[in-house]
Amino acid sequence: MPQLRQNIITGDWVVIAPERAKRPQDFVTPKSVEVSKKEDCPFCPGGPSYKTRIKSEDTKNIYVIQNKFPAFVEDGIKNGRSIYVEDEFYRARPSIGDHEVIVIKNHNLNIFSFSNSLMLEMFQVMQKRFIHMKKDEEVASIMPIYNHGSEAGASIIHPHAQIFASGIVANTVGREMEGAERYFGINGVCVFCDILHHERRQKVRVVAENKDFAAFAFYAARFPFEIWVMPKKHDSQFENSSPSLLKNLAEIMTEALGKLNKTLKNPPLNFYIHTLPTTLEHSNYYHWHVEITPRLSLYGGFEIGSGVIIDVMNPEDAAGYLNGKKKD
Ligand SMILES: [Zn+2]
Ligand SMILES: [Zn+2]
Ligand SMILES: [Zn+2]
Repeated sequence: MPQLRQNIITGDWVVIAPERAKRPQDFVTPKSVEVSKKEDCPFCPGGPSYKTRIKSEDTKNIYVIQNKFPAFVEDGIKNGRSIYVEDEFYRARPSIGDHEVIVIKNHNLNIFSFSNSLMLEMFQVMQKRFIHMKKDEEVASIMPIYNHGSEAGASIIHPHAQIFASGIVANTVGREMEGAERYFGINGVCVFCDILHHERRQKVRVVAENKDFAAFAFYAARFPFEIWVMPKKHDSQFENSSPSLLKNLAEIMTEALGKLNKTLKNPPLNFYIHTLPTTLEHSNYYHWHVEITPRLSLYGGFEIGSGVIIDVMNPEDAAGYLNGKKKD
């Protein structure tokens, strides 16, 4: 069973998931995983995964399965959130929760060739599974994610999203919440709402906008062409999105991803949803959003060592390229 271990110095959590363990010689460069041919694809309908699908979530274009190597498992442990001391020294806890894969049935699509309606269907399934996972009292936070390309951690080429539910609050979300709460304490407003106002007024980094959402190159980007997508109306919880809001989310995601594809020609990337921990009901200072992180460069020693990222593309230029206003 996977285990959550806490960095005794920083308080950050890691998941140790020995089910994935390999011999040292099996750790190969990510490139080599992209070999799966359609014939032996584990995710194609009719294959081994499809047989284990959650029957209620089998739609025309999508099915859902449990992850074969879950980082977080549902095993009926009560008080899964309680920390225990290991070796009379370190702090750990069982890595409880849930980990599902949302599989797009058509092998030949990729995130850049999704139709608007397929994008919407994917977000609808994410929302449905989110609401299902939230019912588990042991769960404290849930994160839907998408990996595209081996450089972005996609080990299987067949298009699929994932959704993680766990008993902890993600390190990044925890830090965002602390900062947002501090900002709210000083300024009396949500920092995300303020960012939106600023970006929409400046119009320098905005790459897409519709009735409900704005997408912009993030001011303090950690990755070249990093884009944040935010609902314009303050809301702390993704799962509460109305059908029409989800429709506009799908639309702006298709548009933003389309611009990335046009400019960068099938870049490897991740996107993930940051939303309020499920242990809280509502927040005036936290505002859910999607972060899109193209993976065009690897982090070197300085980035890993310092946590200070050197981004070689300035976000204002990134927006210029994505909007077709900057050519060289
Ligand atoms: Zn396939
Ligand atoms: Zn807000
Ligand atoms: Zn975030």
